[in-house]
Amino acid sequence: FERDVIRNFSIIAHIDHGKSTLADRLLELTGTIERAQKGLNQQVLDKLKVERERGITVKAQTASMVHPFDGRKYLLNLIDTPGHVDFAWEVSRSLAACQGALLLVDATQGVQAQSISVFNVAVERGLKIIPVLNKIDLPAAQPEQIAVQMQAAFGIDPEEVIQISAKTGKGVDAVLRAIIERIPPPTGEATAPLKAFLFDSSYDRYRGVISLVNIREGVLRKGDKIASCYTRKKYEVTELGIMHPEEVPTTSLRPGQVGYIACNMKESSEAHIGDTLHRAGVPVEPMPGFKPAKAMVYAGVYPIDSNDFLKLEESIKRLTLTDRSVEVTRESSTALGQGCRLGFLGTLHMDVFRQRLEDEYDANVIITAPTVPYKVVYHDRVETVSNPTEFPDVTDSTNRVVEVQEPIVKASIIVPQEYLGEMMDLCFSHRAEDLDHRYLDSSGSSGRTILTCNLPLTEIVTDFFDQLKSRSSGFASFDYEDAGYQPSKLVKMTFLLNNKPVDALALIVHRSAEQAVGRAWVKKLHKIIPRQMFEVPIQAAVGRRIIARETLSAYRADVTAGLYGGHHERKLKHLNNQKESKKRMKRVGTVDLPQEAFYDMLKTG
Ligand code: GDP
Ligand code: MG
Repeated sequence: FERDVIRNFSIIAHIDHGKSTLADRLLELTGTIERAQKGLNQQVLDKLKVERERGITVKAQTASMVHPFDGRKYLLNLIDTPGHVDFAWEVSRSLAACQGALLLVDATQGVQAQSISVFNVAVERGLKIIPVLNKIDLPAAQPEQIAVQMQAAFGIDPEEVIQISAKTGKGVDAVLRAIIERIPPPTGEATAPLKAFLFDSSYDRYRGVISLVNIREGVLRKGDKIASCYTRKKYEVTELGIMHPEEVPTTSLRPGQVGYIACNMKESSEAHIGDTLHRAGVPVEPMPGFKPAKAMVYAGVYPIDSNDFLKLEESIKRLTLTDRSVEVTRESSTALGQGCRLGFLGTLHMDVFRQRLEDEYDANVIITAPTVPYKVVYHDRVETVSNPTEFPDVTDSTNRVVEVQEPIVKASIIVPQEYLGEMMDLCFSHRAEDLDHRYLDSSGSSGRTILTCNLPLTEIVTDFFDQLKSRSSGFASFDYEDAGYQPSKLVKMTFLLNNKPVDALALIVHRSAEQAVGRAWVKKLHKIIPRQMFEVPIQAAVGRRIIARETLSAYRADVTAGLYGGHHERKLKHLNNQKESKKRMKRVGTVDLPQEAFYDMLKTG
């Protein structure tokens, strides 16, 4: 395939707007996969179990199709992009290999916040955008009104919008034609020195690391000796080919092509995303790589039974082979024993990883409260702290903390007008600043409004998203981008059981919320912690100040005392139960806690 018959493109869409369905139809229409039985949703590209379950794409997948048009055969490479903000890094790396993108919008739902941020990345990269309205088969579809929204949100000419039903296949041929006619072919000369852009990798037990590459210049053949600009290591290409949609070996990859290579790379860490590969001995200028994925949410992960730590760590290691954006370090806690501290791109990323971990490791895990990375400014240095136990007591002047800064995000919320007031309240109660809004269309109270504001990242890592959904009856969509750091009045809150602090429960909170947070947590702990032989004060403290307190009263030593008429067997069973649970008790200071209590305490909500 020569360059001028190659088209590299992505589909940008909000979750559920039909990206996987459209991908299936494109693969069928081009004969890449067998036509599915009517109504069957194949979701060929969503390979991860959690992706199928949650109906979201986490890892970008790639597929090539061949389509005849105007007497020529075109090679169309679809590079799938995740549809969620947390995976913005995956989005930018998949878009780097494309010249165009389909912007897919559900004609019954309208423009959603998440399509806007991905759209902005695509436009920044100079991609040709093809607007597509999906689900026009549904009676609730409002193609004209949504086209107006697309014009307001994206500056798109309504004339260019293609109306389709990915489900029935109607209009999908027009999409294929637009891909060929409107998206420019990639640039790059076959005679130039080899320059291949590595944008994804996976691991195969037999062949080692499999990398996905986009050839920018030159031709890559089986048996070629190549080298990495990043690691300077040399390899020999043992196999290469295209994803059609599974791996199909070919003899060469030419400029503009997207394909896979195996080259006896043994460790996943050798495949550096954003790396440039070149012919060994013929160095080239590396292409601008990527900012490395930046973890924005950290949490400690512990096994419920501390004897299981090695098994848990093994499962985490295996998962990070397929999700390299998770940061892992070991940590230990006096209350929870040995565990791992994990850094995630965002909260959805954390949820997805937790679910994959629980599937893989086959048990529940204890996850400590999520923490964002804070900057603590001392008179002579700045430290980044993402673990509450390492956060200094700012109320103690001998610590000489000048100020604390927290990460801020620029948030966009798209919502029907009637919920605008409710959404503003939600934002203000989460310390919003610079709130602004404008209308996307003007069809009364159901017309859509876009609300933007700055929010502290920590305010959206816990319950913000759930509240957004419930307070807008599910109609609001939400997205955010990084907006740097800002000084803030933050303090460390510790919880004491019988006057001893419990490290795993420490939190970083804003001054304005310390009373409310302290009281709520103390209440929650009081409900969950089992009674002891003696009275236990439960306290929340900021520095030396006690913010809230509850007292857990003592229970009577003889557990069978309350069982009247004492049937012997019943008594025995009760005593055995007590023995059984003793084994799993964890001593925190002078208080015995079942490890499960930590699971209950730290479960969100
Ligand atoms: P994704 O999250 O963007 O990948 O969306 P999916 O392709 O998984 O589609 C989400 C849901 O919308 C599924 O239940 C699809 O069957 C349905 N869907 C997708 N396209 C259409 C369409 O054109 N018409 C109708 N009626 N349903 C569609
Ligand atoms: Mg999908």
